[in-house]
Amino acid sequence: MSKAKVFKLIVILLSVLFIVSAATCVVLGVKYHNSNKQIAQLNDKLDEGQSMLDEQVSANESLKEENSSQAESFSQQYEKQSKENQSKVDELNKKIKDLNKQLAAKKKPSTTKSNNVQSGPVVIPKPTPSTGKTVYLTFDDGPSSYTPQILDTLDKYGVKATFFVKNGGKYNYLMKDIVNRGHSIGLHTYSHDYAKIYKSDTAYFNDLNKISDLVFEQTGVRTKIMRFPGGASNTVSRKYSKGIMSRLTKSVKQQGYVYFDWNCSNGDADGANTVQKQLNFCSQYSKSASTVIVLMHDTKKTTRDALPKIIEYYKSCGFKLGVITTSTPPIQHRVNN
Ligand SMILES: [Zn+2]
Repeated sequence: MSKAKVFKLIVILLSVLFIVSAATCVVLGVKYHNSNKQIAQLNDKLDEGQSMLDEQVSANESLKEENSSQAESFSQQYEKQSKENQSKVDELNKKIKDLNKQLAAKKKPSTTKSNNVQSGPVVIPKPTPSTGKTVYLTFDDGPSSYTPQILDTLDKYGVKATFFVKNGGKYNYLMKDIVNRGHSIGLHTYSHDYAKIYKSDTAYFNDLNKISDLVFEQTGVRTKIMRFPGGASNTVSRKYSKGIMSRLTKSVKQQGYVYFDWNCSNGDADGANTVQKQLNFCSQYSKSASTVIVLMHDTKKTTRDALPKIIEYYKSCGFKLGVITTSTPPIQHRVNN
């Protein structure tokens, strides 16, 4: 090959190389331009996203603020309501206090009055006129040394009563007197010892059978009327056996007994230690009922002394005085144990 030809070939090669390089540069330049454009677009999008995010954040913040202000207003409202309620409660308590004071003030004159008349004549409470009403005088816890005088008073007024007896020791012979004079006799347990009789169902019935046998021995009567010591509503039995009164009130019925509570008391076991106080007790509880069973105790001296006036009071009200039998509609307390 000649020198000229070699030279020509080199020139051609160099030209080709130049064209290829230039074309590559153009392609790369276009690509670079496009990339930049894309980057710019992405940046725009990024900016857009950022501004949306900012908007969202600020919206959230305002929502948060709103919520916290709402919470604050709720708590304020709650506080206000609580305060209002408390003041209402205070007001009601005050009213209750006032009413109690009024009640105490109303009660006071009657006790003062009864204290004043202790040495003077006994005032029989104003009778409430009534027809078709029956009162049952009942005497618990005897027989005792006061029972004979009580029987005499009942004879004197020609009225009959009911005696719920326990073991009266040397006075047990009076049980026959009670029955012979036409009164009703009922069972009140032998021992009247709460801890003993309310210990268990079996203990109760053992004691009840014992007084039933004693009354039968003394009088020849197998009585089926009875009264629970403390009444069917007593809660003291809970100390010895939970639920015993609920069980006993059912099981005595199953054994053919009828138990009697009371809706009136002469208060002889509640501090009514004067004739006047006992009369006040009787009149207080006898106003509205058409059947009255009066709880009294023939073991109390004041009851012996007040009995004539109590009978006079009921007679003046037009009450019929009755004796309790198994067919008398019973007055029974709500069982609390
Ligand atoms: Zn009793």
